[in-house]
Amino acid sequence: QRKPSLEYLNRMGATGGKIPLGLKRKGLRVVVTGGAGFVGSHLVDRLMARGDTVIVVDNFFTGRKENVMHHFGNPNFELIRHDVVEPILLEVDQIYHLACPASPVHYKFNPVKTIISFSIFFLCNYVFGVGMFWFVVFLDSRVYKTNVVGTLNMLGLAKRVGARFLLTSTSEVYGDPLQHPQVETYWGNVNPIGVRSCYDEGKRTAETLAMDYHRGANVEVRIARIFNTYGPRMCIDDGRVVSNFVAQALRKEPLTVYGDGKQTRSFQFVSDLVEGLMRLMEGEHVGPFNLGNPGEFTMLELAKVVQETIDPNANIEFRPNTEDDPHKRKPDITKAKELLGWEPKVSLRQGLPLMVKDFRQRVFGDQKEGSS
Ligand code: NAD
Ligand code: UDP
Ligand code: UDP
Repeated sequence: QRKPSLEYLNRMGATGGKIPLGLKRKGLRVVVTGGAGFVGSHLVDRLMARGDTVIVVDNFFTGRKENVMHHFGNPNFELIRHDVVEPILLEVDQIYHLACPASPVHYKFNPVKTIISFSIFFLCNYVFGVGMFWFVVFLDSRVYKTNVVGTLNMLGLAKRVGARFLLTSTSEVYGDPLQHPQVETYWGNVNPIGVRSCYDEGKRTAETLAMDYHRGANVEVRIARIFNTYGPRMCIDDGRVVSNFVAQALRKEPLTVYGDGKQTRSFQFVSDLVEGLMRLMEGEHVGPFNLGNPGEFTMLELAKVVQETIDPNANIEFRPNTEDDPHKRKPDITKAKELLGWEPKVSLRQGLPLMVKDFRQRVFGDQKEGSS
């Protein structure tokens, strides 16, 4: 592993990142792209609590001001409305690059998934005489562009100012995996032309760019491959399975299980992820690192946990599954355990009630929206 730059060590008080997380020290200037989103806003909270100066760059495509507005007025906090597809000039020490529409609804066509999709479909038909197809084409290119051009811009910024750069990649780089559980050395099984490709291939290209800037331009990069994450502040109607089930159970609607419900995912609580991201950024290893909770659940098992947590009488309704849906997913986190000293602490049964509390407030219109 290459040594961190002198500039970086100086800012860190020449400790090379060995200061325990959370300890007060000379604040860093940190950019969080996508910081108004679900994961980003929790990360911002931790960085602010540590005494860093935080600049959030977000175009509010899926993020919300409410997620970070509790920092408004704090001189250490700044919010910039900006699309990372456009270049930006900033002077910073670290870049957490999260900006990307992360929910499937935002990157693939699935008419059964959300009311939002249907509304836009009918609105498009009514107003422009065109259908969802054009809406989806627009979104697909936007996701890919954000992953590729947005990441390129943030790497260009990191190169210019000598900042450390962390990419939030995804377990989707493994596609529909032929290895189980997934180890970082596995190259994946991804359909390059499917409905999920703009996201999967976009993130794969982003990883390629990060490694090229690392090798070719000496940029200090860190790569996290994040597995399914849930928690307070998730978009309520974004179509992801945990947010769908929780919102459905609260609204007394049936839980929509796609396919036979035997496909598996591993669900990580957001505070565990944020801890992992910060350890990765502060540590000396490039990665990639799997960050996820190895607890594996079928969608039917997840529905059962949601029933137990919210409403034992909630019905289950089966729906046709979506194209290219990965059959199973579970992280091997040996590498993160060994090199980052990290492992998740919050089980699904412990984390779900924390998310339900936040969803209950938002679904039923409580004014404390966004708090956790
Ligand atoms: P999110 O949609 O809540 O947050 C993404 C944020 O990026 C939003 O605030 C959105 O407005 C912003 N954004 C999108 N496009 C942008 C652009 N072009 N310019 C500026 N801002 C833009 O999603 P999240 O769940 O918080 O995901 C954060 C990151 O973690 C994403 O990169 C995602 O791919 C990755 N990830 C998340 C999960 C998960 O389960 N949550 C899993 C794997 C990877
Ligand atoms: N870039 C940016 N902010 C900066 C430096 C660069 O947004 O502070 C963008 C720049 O506009 C370019 C991308 O990052 O599109 C890659 O920059 P780099 O210098 O690596 O490549 P080049 O501009 O030489 O193609
Ligand atoms: N899923 C489901 N019901 C829903 C939403 C999703 O059964 O209401 C399934 C989906 O088919 C997939 C799994 O849940 O097998 C996880 O989907 P999600 O979109 O949350 O994440 P990803 O597919 O990106 O892992």
